[in-house]
Amino acid sequence: MSGQRVFVGLGSNLEDPAAQIARASEALRTLTTGRVLQLSSLYLSRAVGPPQPDYVNAVASFETKLAPLDLLDALQAIERAQGRERSTHWGPRTLDLDILLIDDLQLQHPRLQVPHPYLTQRNFVLVPLQELAPDLRLPNGDKVADLVQRVGHTGLNRLTLT
Ligand code: AMP
Repeated sequence: MSGQRVFVGLGSNLEDPAAQIARASEALRTLTTGRVLQLSSLYLSRAVGPPQPDYVNAVASFETKLAPLDLLDALQAIERAQGRERSTHWGPRTLDLDILLIDDLQLQHPRLQVPHPYLTQRNFVLVPLQELAPDLRLPNGDKVADLVQRVGHTGLNRLTLT
């Protein structure tokens, strides 16, 4: 079995966010089948919630043999290893990792909802997702491209590294 294809959202707005994303994507690579991982461009997005620095966001796509809750445990271990502060809900964080999609799985578990509950509302997730998988559909059949059209690009800028 080659595993299931997952999409993970990465976000950071503290302690050199672009470096946090790069470190996290290397940590994610250890969870993959064959160490193959695609990472989207980095996007700068205005923060939701209390006033705080802009976020750097990206999406990673890879195959893994980990069961969904084991994947969540692994992501939370990576967040902890990179010094995530969990004190404030919606507050600044060094690293936030969210499971966006696991193949066509639809899961409602006390610890884990898949697809991610805010996936369809956040352009900083949908735009990098579309970049990695332009023809992707959600388990309910919705096209990611249509969702991007609906949410628009307000507050979102693709980062170009000079
Ligand atoms: P947050 O602080 O916003 O990253 O939320 C973390 C909490 O969301 C954790 O306690 C997880 O158990 C829960 N959670 C539910 N669904 C997901 C998901 N798809 N990806 C990551 N965390 C999730």
